[in-house]
Amino acid sequence: MSDLQATAILVPALLQPTALIHHPYRPPADFDAPAPGVHKASTVFFPSVAALRSRDWKDKSAYTYGLHGTPTTFTLEERIASLEGGAHCVLAPSGLAAIALVDLALLRAGDELLIPHNAYGPNKSLAQVELAGWGIQTRYYDPMDPADLAAKIGPATRLVWFEAAGSITLEFPDLPALTAICRQASEGRARPILSVLDNTWGAGVAFSGFELGADVVMQALTKYPSGGGDVLMGSVVTRDPALHRELLLTHMRLGLGVSGNDAELVLRGLPSLALRYAAQDAAARELAGWMQAQPGIKRVLHPALPGSPGHETWLRDARGAACLFTVVFDDAVLPEQVVAFCDALRLFRLGYSWAGPVSLCVPYERAEMRGRDWPHVHGPVRLAVGLEAVADLRADLAQALRVLRA
Ligand SMILES: *Cc1c(COP(=O)(O)O)cnc(C)c1O
Repeated sequence: MSDLQATAILVPALLQPTALIHHPYRPPADFDAPAPGVHKASTVFFPSVAALRSRDWKDKSAYTYGLHGTPTTFTLEERIASLEGGAHCVLAPSGLAAIALVDLALLRAGDELLIPHNAYGPNKSLAQVELAGWGIQTRYYDPMDPADLAAKIGPATRLVWFEAAGSITLEFPDLPALTAICRQASEGRARPILSVLDNTWGAGVAFSGFELGADVVMQALTKYPSGGGDVLMGSVVTRDPALHRELLLTHMRLGLGVSGNDAELVLRGLPSLALRYAAQDAAARELAGWMQAQPGIKRVLHPALPGSPGHETWLRDARGAACLFTVVFDDAVLPEQVVAFCDALRLFRLGYSWAGPVSLCVPYERAEMRGRDWPHVHGPVRLAVGLEAVADLRADLAQALRVLRA
């Protein structure tokens, strides 16, 4: 007798898998509570062939397959669309996947893409390798110089990325001026130039990307909306239904679904988003100002600090700032001391990402600043402020700064 037959005989007759799988009980439908339900599915049932053939998930009127949406992901999409001041949202499994979705949905071979030189690094890498391989050329522009953007736009330009503030160096660009240039240059074109904002820094809290002129607003929900440092997700929000449909169909063809459990984590973070943003903003501003006054520090970059690039534009267009500030050490400080400072931090942990509960530190090498306007001897050290007490974080920075005197 094979093992398989032996097992079959040992299954007790009382265990009736069919009855358990096709159990008739349905809980009452009117359960209502602060947290939306967590629905998980690959398969979704249809009551009839007619339903299977007629259901349309694209307008969120029905369910067809887990990849096309569940009550949980539809709910999160609607909330993120509201957060950004848009009308439609598509979720992706990470912020970077959301960037890739935008590029793959909206660009074709022969198109040209413009990226600010201070953009999120992996956005540039995707353009340099995959997009270039598919015949999509990328040019880089200086986001602090609208004339440079105007000069870089060519007949094949289809899409322009924006970031406010820029990754690592935190320059705050004049988005209304930059997006107006794209609109003007679009006049008379069959396919207008699309302005796409990576709104991870503003999180939908500091300003409205659409009001500043963006056509598409992408965000790494990994950062503020989650707030936990424990989930990866991205969103792409639009106001224009035709643009949303293009994104949605590419999203379907690429299979960029998100899990119900991950959507639940982000839904759980949303009610406290504005409070966390404000608290981390206040703490980061206090620490950035304090850090700027310390010996051995050449500059602190943070849009709320006078003298930081784009400070006046930030004052005009934003109601808050993210938890990030970037430190440039004096030229006389040795590179080993910069490393020793980062290694000496105790509450600020070394690690990527930000906007979670734990303060974080990432030292960048000078070589990584290539392509940017970076006149300093040292690479920058980016600090992300978490939810710890500000006095404790200040004490941590102070004790780590002692290595500069060693
Ligand atoms: C973190 C980040 C992303 C990517 O998000 P992931 O979820 O980590 O892929 C994109 N843009 C900006 C500005 C970011 O800070």
